[in-house]
Amino acid sequence: MKFYFITGAQDLYGEETLRLVAKNSRAIVNGLNKAETLPFKLELKNTAISDSAITEVMLEANSDPDCGGIITWMHTFSPAKMWIEGLRLLDKPYLHLHTQFNREIPWDEIDMDFMNLNQSAHGDREHGFMAARLRKPHAVAAGYWKDAETQEKIADFMAAAAGVMEGRKLRCARFGDNMRNVAVTEGDKIEAQIKLGWQVNSWGIGDLCDMMREVPDKAVDAEFEAVCEKYELCTDDISEVKNQLRITIALRGFMKENKISAFVTGFQDLHGMKSLPGMASQLLMAEGYGFGAEGDWKTSCLTRVMKVMAEAKKTPGGTTFMEDYTYNLKKGDETVLGAHMLEVCPSIAADKPKIEVHPLGIGGKEPPARLVFESGESEAINVTLVDMGGRLRMIVQEISTIPPIHHMPNLPVAATMWRPKPDMLSASEMYIYSGGAHHFVLSQQLTYADMARFAEMVGIECVRIGDGVTMEALKQTLLINEVASRLGI
Ligand code: MN
Repeated sequence: MKFYFITGAQDLYGEETLRLVAKNSRAIVNGLNKAETLPFKLELKNTAISDSAITEVMLEANSDPDCGGIITWMHTFSPAKMWIEGLRLLDKPYLHLHTQFNREIPWDEIDMDFMNLNQSAHGDREHGFMAARLRKPHAVAAGYWKDAETQEKIADFMAAAAGVMEGRKLRCARFGDNMRNVAVTEGDKIEAQIKLGWQVNSWGIGDLCDMMREVPDKAVDAEFEAVCEKYELCTDDISEVKNQLRITIALRGFMKENKISAFVTGFQDLHGMKSLPGMASQLLMAEGYGFGAEGDWKTSCLTRVMKVMAEAKKTPGGTTFMEDYTYNLKKGDETVLGAHMLEVCPSIAADKPKIEVHPLGIGGKEPPARLVFESGESEAINVTLVDMGGRLRMIVQEISTIPPIHHMPNLPVAATMWRPKPDMLSASEMYIYSGGAHHFVLSQQLTYADMARFAEMVGIECVRIGDGVTMEALKQTLLINEVASRLGI
């Protein structure tokens, strides 16, 4: 993916000024590309000096499948009426970069030519007005282009844009419907596709069984050797481990063939399967696939999108499907134990995960193999997406993950603990009041700001629960958001 860098100007100042505008823009783009602080490359487009040229480059951005978004910057003044049609048509993420070619004013040399050439200070204000006037979703980043802080702002924009663009091609395969009678994992798949691009379609579990039968034993044996190098084999039930690897290979092949990057399973729909895909889901999540249990396609797609954003951010830690399982309510030491029946991504593991086989006690199938591990210490977020009826709400709960505070020798699944912010009880009250789901994506790699940028680009509600947030403030925010949504804002 690449991003278009579009410098705005006009033809009022003569050829020489425009030559310098192009030269300086080239220097900025080359400088930013060489700095290697941005996850994606910039491509310099011709200086935008007319309405027709602007419209043309916006349409090019829209139709270029490799274009992740545009970055505009006004080197000189660029009358914003020229930008109306182009910006109106633009359908890609949009960052308005407010920078200047020179860092300092050349005190001894500054003259009127310099003033005409370097007008970002007010040229970018004229440009910003039009984005605001058009109510165009966009981001604004101010700073000198050579500064690390400025480059980080551009990188953050690109990461959110990567999530948006991933969504537009995201296909999620459902093996089984949502768990019977469960409410929060339901949702309007058409609304999700309109807003986020996510395509969610179902396949029969029998289709997966057929695919598994076609996997050659040799492929399973090779996968077994690779997995045993990466993880510690702590079971004699090799047949079940290989069963999970057969599921992994079949699912991976199916998803590659059909350009699918997220999937869901359901323990109520396992006809023909030996066991619930446990380790298979974990291995595929570690490869970057989205996953949701019990038919939870919203969390599956969100896992995939957040993994793509995290990869662009290049931050350490992991991103996984997660559920708050049970609490430690000891006064002063309140913590959440996060786990799932099986399916937690080993990207959050602090140490080498163990391969174990234990009975599940649900679903009525054979004991499934799973990776068992604990997570390390990190700042993190839990992100949930709920369907409020007619619109989607994203809730971002800020947390600190910690390794389990006590040894749990009988816990047969991967686990982490965390302390929610501002404190566990207030956080739980606010999360539950907002309608947050028991399923979410835990990420040690992304922050609320990352998710808010993403939500703004796709036009969905995003609320934060964390330090400094009170129930009173949250209720106000939810009320304003509700009113805004009813007004169609
Ligand atoms: Mn669950």
